[in-house]
Amino acid sequence: MSTIALVTGANKGIGFETVKQLAEQGVTVLLAARNKEKGEAAVASLKEKGLDVAFLQLDVDNPADFKTAYTYIETTYGKLDILVNNAGIQIEETNWGVNTSTYIDIAVLKKTFDTNFFNLVDLTNTLLPLIRKSDAGRIVHLSSILGSLTLHADPNSPIYGSKLFAYDASKTAVNAYTVHLAAALADTNIKVNAAHPGWVKTDMGTDAAPMNVADGAKTSVALALLGNDGPTGKYIHLGEELPW
Ligand code: NAP
Repeated sequence: MSTIALVTGANKGIGFETVKQLAEQGVTVLLAARNKEKGEAAVASLKEKGLDVAFLQLDVDNPADFKTAYTYIETTYGKLDILVNNAGIQIEETNWGVNTSTYIDIAVLKKTFDTNFFNLVDLTNTLLPLIRKSDAGRIVHLSSILGSLTLHADPNSPIYGSKLFAYDASKTAVNAYTVHLAAALADTNIKVNAAHPGWVKTDMGTDAAPMNVADGAKTSVALALLGNDGPTGKYIHLGEELPW
């Protein structure tokens, strides 16, 4: 049976490009999106290129969808080889150079953590029994360099001046989950890593970003297709390790 992957938040941006690049490598990819029309349109555009892609409706903020996804994948494929937790939100400010920590709206902080962290954990743990059935399970969490506490604490680091507290802390929490989950699965054939895609031109990254979306998907794709000798429990950008 072919390799089966699921990518969340994949109707556009880095997620869509990740689906495309994985499918171009011969992977059967479930393109997950919360919006049916957008997700189906994205799938249709990839099927036109002859790629093996199917739509799965999955709202990361709706845990009922996780069970539906589990049942669908179990019935259709019996296993899941690759999970890319790509869906994410940044709902604070768009300005580089602000620090929101003194005035963060708690509702924004909670909403950001729900989507970027709590629900990512819930979805991953729901699907884990299917990933355990894979010969070479790979879990990729879309983090960000903005989740690095080491870099945030260093006045000389390039990110020191940008402190979007809700977004940054949610990605730091994703990093913590990466380390904990990788350790929990150390004796299995499942690898768990956190990806920093780079600053990428997407709706979230804005047009000011220096990287195109094709390059922005490369870290996720490389971690999804890691060989058995590849790393686990790491925080990676284009093959280079980042400090936690
Ligand atoms: P994007 O273009 O804004 O795409 C975000 C995707 O997440 C969209 O498909 C969106 O769906 C989906 N999403 C949001 N909430 C969701 C939910 N509740 N359920 C399902 N899907 C949901 O952003 P992007 O730049 O591609 O970002 C992808 C990932 O990379 C994110 O985790 C982001 O934090 C991370 N990242 C991005 C950059 C960058 O420079 N772009 C840098 C570091 C990390 P809708 O279209 O329905 O809203």
